[in-house]
Amino acid sequence: MDFSFTPEQETFRQELRTWLKANVPPEAHPLRHLQPQASTEDLAFLKAWQKKVHEGGWAGVSWPREYGGCGASLVERMIFDQEMAASQAPGLLNVLGLEIVGPTLIVHGTEEQKKSHLPNILSGDEIWSQGFSEPNSGSDLGSLRTRAIDQGDYFVVTGQKVWTSLARYADWCQLLVRTNLDAPKHQGISCLLVDMKSPGITVKPLRTMTGDSEFNEVFFEEVKVPKANLLGEVDQGWRIIITSLMFERQGLGFYFTFAQKRYYEDLLAEIRHSQRYGESVATDPQIRQKIAQAYIDCELIKLNNYRALTRLLRGNPPGPEGSIPKLQWADINQRLQDLAVEVQGAYGQLFQGEVRAPEGGYWQYGFLRSRANSIEGGTSEIQRNILAERVLGLPKGR
Ligand SMILES: Cc1cc2nc3c(=O)[nH]c(=O)nc-3n(C[C@H](O)[C@H](O)[C@H](O)COP(=O)(O)OP(=O)(O)OC[C@H]3O[C@@H](n4cnc5c(N)ncnc54)[C@H](O)[C@@H]3O)c2cc1C
Repeated sequence: MDFSFTPEQETFRQELRTWLKANVPPEAHPLRHLQPQASTEDLAFLKAWQKKVHEGGWAGVSWPREYGGCGASLVERMIFDQEMAASQAPGLLNVLGLEIVGPTLIVHGTEEQKKSHLPNILSGDEIWSQGFSEPNSGSDLGSLRTRAIDQGDYFVVTGQKVWTSLARYADWCQLLVRTNLDAPKHQGISCLLVDMKSPGITVKPLRTMTGDSEFNEVFFEEVKVPKANLLGEVDQGWRIIITSLMFERQGLGFYFTFAQKRYYEDLLAEIRHSQRYGESVATDPQIRQKIAQAYIDCELIKLNNYRALTRLLRGNPPGPEGSIPKLQWADINQRLQDLAVEVQGAYGQLFQGEVRAPEGGYWQYGFLRSRANSIEGGTSEIQRNILAERVLGLPKGR
């Protein structure tokens, strides 16, 4: 395996690194993007950051140039994630628009839809959410029940979504609806682009154990959606779902790798300066074993991601192996966050709500938030099913 980069890739890295050095705001903190719902001030900060990234020419790094992106290759895309994490740059607020909705529009959208939305996704003028999951349809997305009735020029949408990240701030939503009750369940779904300001939409934030309202319930009561906002063909939404989920996995795979490395480095620093009963925590044999394991874990996800990348570079479509890094990352991050709280001893139980300071709740926040890792983006059980059936060739479970 060859882990070296070409001179062009190194130039790309250097240009980006120079740009980040000059532009990452001094008050930036990586956790600022993990809880964008924190305050109006944070929201304004994140919007301004995305604008700056866009003006610098780095938003939509892997989007084709004709749609306003950088046209970066897969390896350059990986370098982008690596440098963003290393520079402690905040993530981009419009992450769902940039990583999932925009790329899906590029594949399935009409020229009109592309023209109207893509530039605004890049600039952050349109924040997007993704309305897939419902109270009784998460892992089994095919069973979704939010109904859209064809009324000629428009659909009338009634139903409920849940877990909708960013909905509170979103201008638009990529919404899955059922358009055909008679077709088999995966064949009667359509995808709509819905203006969140449409009459009949109510967003109710859900408060999680971190104290944040990261996601929301979204209620649709006879919401009119123009036909021009249908993405792809009617009843053919399952194709759109597959495209969106593929972009989600592809876009976030490397982000996890490098974010994990950053957590590992932060924890190592914490261990180096922490004392317990007058002795350095770093001399505790159990802690030493666990931090060594955390290092191995980081390497493990990185190498598995490299393997997935190599597959793509050889021209293969993303395969079910993509579930390996997602599954590993959920376990690995939860283990690392457990360790961080253990290192803090009794102080680990205090959560002062200032997540940007190690003494105020950085690790406590991370510990609580990490519980979501084995649910979001497909649960760990579902990833194991995919691996069992599609990689190991085992029969379908009962
Ligand atoms: C932080 C966060 C952000 C999210 N953001 C969004 C968003 O923006 N938009 C959106 O649409 N959704 C979002 N989700 C929802 C997420 O995609 C779903 O929670 C996830 O797909 C699981 O669905 P569910 O919650 O309905 O659980 P269920 O599917 O009801 O599963 C419940 C339990 O049963 C297990 N299970 C289910 N089926 C099987 C099976 N066949 N075999 C074995 N075990 C099984 C699951 O693993 C789980 O443990 C978000 C979730 C989180 C945690």
